[in-house]
Amino acid sequence: MDQIDEQAARPSVPEMDALLGKPFPVLDHGFVRLVDYMGDDSSIVQAARVSYGKGTKTAREDEALIKYLMRHRHTTPFEMCEFKVHVKLPIFVARQWVRHRTASINEYSARYSILDSEFYLPQPEQLQPQSKQNRQGRAGAYTPVQAVDLLDILKGEGARSYQAYEALLAGGTDGSAPGLARELARIGLGVNFYTQWYWKTNLHNLLNFLSLRADPHAQWEIRVYAQVMLDMLKAWVPITHAAFLEYRLEGANLSRSALNAVRAVIASGDPGSAQEYLQGRELAELITLLKLDQLSSGT
Ligand SMILES: Cc1cc2nc3c(=O)[nH]c(=O)nc-3n(C[C@H](O)[C@H](O)[C@H](O)COP(=O)(O)OP(=O)(O)OC[C@H]3O[C@@H](n4cnc5c(N)ncnc54)[C@H](O)[C@@H]3O)c2cc1C
Repeated sequence: MDQIDEQAARPSVPEMDALLGKPFPVLDHGFVRLVDYMGDDSSIVQAARVSYGKGTKTAREDEALIKYLMRHRHTTPFEMCEFKVHVKLPIFVARQWVRHRTASINEYSARYSILDSEFYLPQPEQLQPQSKQNRQGRAGAYTPVQAVDLLDILKGEGARSYQAYEALLAGGTDGSAPGLARELARIGLGVNFYTQWYWKTNLHNLLNFLSLRADPHAQWEIRVYAQVMLDMLKAWVPITHAAFLEYRLEGANLSRSALNAVRAVIASGDPGSAQEYLQGRELAELITLLKLDQLSSGT
């Protein structure tokens, strides 16, 4: 009976309850708002231990268990926790986000409702030229004059396309025709216009999302959303958050060859010996990861 009562009590996290309903601003018009959550660190521990029928252990043992699960990718206990947010985001960010298929989504319908005149304009410091090294990235900087010019183009384009949207809804330039259906009027709007959705996923999938989108390889505009959710994660499941940073987000997996390269560098003391096992891009990535270029060769 005691055990049933204990299991019937719904875990709640005061730090998380304090966040419920509050929109956390992201980019120029976006936000992330926590709608609901289920479970906490203890739910993960409870799920991991249920097969053994063991009672609650000490907080230290619980922490060690969560770290163990994270380290060894025993992932199903993390699926016991759920996370639901309301997000307002530019369509181009939504297109990256929606690639994470293991979530439930309800999106604002621009067939049903009229979109607001809100489109994302980067801050001048976010405007950077195409990177020469990374085809999916940006690098370097513009002068203030160049940044203003480029921003004016983006701004003009957004304003023009919204004007066209309004004109189509109103039935043409003189308004004499019946307004075009919303589902067609929207098709000329740019991918920097904002959409909104409810997004619900479990903790395991949230960690997958964050490991890819809070990572420096992800586009900055989605990373800032991931960062807000990473902060929520810390409030919600602090032990899991710490283990996630330790073993996944700020840790690394090494290939067999990379491990051999590391062993060779340790044995010889010469960063150059890594080349025996790795070349090209993989070698460059290992050098960056281990900061091998900061070790003096031959010492
Ligand atoms: C920096 C970066 C750059 C990217 N660039 C590109 C790009 O140029 N082009 C592009 O198309 N995508 C790109 N992506 C998207 C990427 O390929 C993934 O689609 C996205 O990150 C979602 O990852 P996921 O499949 O692990 O997530 P989820 O869809 O949430 O899936 C989680 C896990 O569930 C399982 N799963 C889900 N659905 C299936 C399925 N149908 N079959 C089998 N297993 C499944 C898999 O194990 C998967 O790992 C990029 C992503 C990042 C982070």
